[in-house]
Amino acid sequence: MMNDQDAWDQATAISGTAYDSLPHDTTAELDDLIDEIMQLKQKLVELVTCAGSSEICRNCGGECCLLGKYHVSVLDMLAYLKTGADAVIPDFSPGPACPYSGESGCLMPPGYRPVTCVIFNCQMIEDRLTAAERETLQRYENRLRQAVARTGRICGTRLDRPLLLSCT
Ligand code: SF4
Ligand code: SF4
Repeated sequence: MMNDQDAWDQATAISGTAYDSLPHDTTAELDDLIDEIMQLKQKLVELVTCAGSSEICRNCGGECCLLGKYHVSVLDMLAYLKTGADAVIPDFSPGPACPYSGESGCLMPPGYRPVTCVIFNCQMIEDRLTAAERETLQRYENRLRQAVARTGRICGTRLDRPLLLSCT
């Protein structure tokens, strides 16, 4: 049976090959959607950061990040390929910490984080938000989900499936 690192390496390689072999028009459309998705993720994180989430999350120690292993999707990996940025290097050694986290929290910049991670806010964060801010977050989330769904439609396969399970 493949271990997590092997599954990650294999899925990353297959995603790269699939991305490189897309027809030109599909790549252009997909790249535009990836841009939009990254911007929406950034906005989602910025809004809660402005509401004071950093300090709250630091004090909490990242309770909601303990189950992050399968949050990274094929589409999240394509964002690294599209931008040419170095992909996050996971640490799959046993332990409760998310493989994509370090001493200062998530190793991924906001625009590269998984959808699940950027849309979830616990009650402590929710309590800091105004009604207008919650509405704005909901609007961003809806647009994010729609953009992710469109990537699947143009590629003919769901890209939001977990990267680590994409080769099994
Ligand atoms: S969102 Fe909530 S549960 Fe998650 S790290 Fe921040 S304070 Fe903790
Ligand atoms: S990927 Fe980042 S934000 Fe998501 S669970 Fe892991 S450390 Fe937390």
